[in-house]
Amino acid sequence: MTFETKIVHISQPDELTGALSTPIYQTSSYQQISPDNTKNGFAYSRTANPTRKAAEEAVALLEGGRFGFAFASGLAATDCVLKLLSAGDEVVSVDDVYGGTYRILTTVYNRFGVKSTFVDSSDAKNVERAMTDKTRFVWLETPTNPTLKISDIKAIADIAHARGAMLVVDNTFLSPALQRPLELGADIALHSATKYLSGHGDVLAGFLVLNDEALAEQLTYLQNTSGGVLAPQDSWLTIRGIRTLSLRMKKHCENAIRVAEYLIKHPKVDKVYFPGLTTHKNHDVAARQQSGFGGMVAFSLKNDTIENASKFLTSTQIFFLAESLGDVFSLVSHPATMTHKSTPAEVRRATGIQDSLIRLSVGIESAEDLIEDIEQALEKSN
Ligand SMILES: *Cc1c(COP(=O)(O)O)cnc(C)c1O
Repeated sequence: MTFETKIVHISQPDELTGALSTPIYQTSSYQQISPDNTKNGFAYSRTANPTRKAAEEAVALLEGGRFGFAFASGLAATDCVLKLLSAGDEVVSVDDVYGGTYRILTTVYNRFGVKSTFVDSSDAKNVERAMTDKTRFVWLETPTNPTLKISDIKAIADIAHARGAMLVVDNTFLSPALQRPLELGADIALHSATKYLSGHGDVLAGFLVLNDEALAEQLTYLQNTSGGVLAPQDSWLTIRGIRTLSLRMKKHCENAIRVAEYLIKHPKVDKVYFPGLTTHKNHDVAARQQSGFGGMVAFSLKNDTIENASKFLTSTQIFFLAESLGDVFSLVSHPATMTHKSTPAEVRRATGIQDSLIRLSVGIESAEDLIEDIEQALEKSN
C-alpha cells in the first residue's frame, strides 16, 4: 500500500459499531471482569485509552515503527525520553535545537546531573568530536529552527551507535510524509504533533515512535509513571488531521518553493534559508534523505534591523503574526524578538539569526496570494 493510501486509512473502523471515525472514549476508567482481569487491557486511561491507542498506532505506522506513544505536547514527549537518563549521562544536541528542548536540558535536567553540549551537526564530524563515553543520546533536529540547517541522519546514526549512544530525531519540521528517521537509522522519532501532524492549529500533542521492544517497555513504564498523556479528544483531533497530511505536505512544499524563489530575487532581501535551494549548504543531504523540502522558509533583509523587520511583520494580511508552524494557514514570526528573545544578541547573531530574520510557515493557500501578500509587506519595509 502506498504511503498516501495508508495515511487516509490511518485508523480502522470501530470493532463494536463499525464507526468509521474513531470514537472518542471519554472515560477515565473501565469496568473490569475481576480484580485482576480487564476487558481488552483497559483499566485506567493514564495507562491506556482506545482513542489514544488509535492515535499511537497511526503515528507509529506513518513513521514505519513498531511502537507509538502519545503525549499532551511535544515537550511532554521530550520530557519522557529524557527520563531514560540518569545522573552522569550526557546529551549531544544541535546548537539551534528547539528553544523548549534547550530550556529543559539546560535548566531542568542539568540539575539532575545530565550534561548537554550543543554543536553544529550540519557537519557530522562536530557530533563525533563532542561525544564522550558518557553520551547516551545524540539529539537531532533536521531541518532546524529558524535557519533550516540540515544534518545527515544516517551518518550521525552510525556515529552515535559506534559509541553506544542512541539517536533521537525530532521530526516535527517535516513529518513522516517527507522524512522517516527510523528508516535512516534513528532509534527514536519524536514529534510535536501540534504542528504538521495535526495541521490545523487546534491541538497540542506529542509523539514518540521506535522499534526496540525493551526500549518500548521502558517508555510504557515512564509514560504511565509520569502521566503526561494525550487526552481522548485531542487524540481524535490528531487522527482527523493526519488523514490529510499527504495532501497538505504536497501543497506546503509547492508553495514554499515558489515563495523561496520569489524571495531570492527581491532587491530588499539579503539571505534566504530554504533546503530546496541548490545554494543551501546541505541541499544534497536534504534531497537524499527527504522526499520534499518542507514548508518552512526564513529570510533576512538587507536593511538588517528589528524595526525594519517589524514593518514587514505588521503589514502582512494573509500571514498571521504568531508562534507555531505547520498549520494550514500561513504564519510569520520574528525569531529575534519571539522564539529567541532570551538568547543574548551576540550569541543569536553568531548562530545566523540576524536582527531582521523573518520565519515563514508557508500554508496551503494559493501561492499567488501568498506572494502578493509578501510583496506588499516588503513594499512597506526599507
Ligand atoms: C513546537 C516544537 C516542539 C515542542 O512541541 P510542543 O507541542 O509545543 O510542546 C518541539 N520540537 C520542535 C521542532 C517544535 O517545533
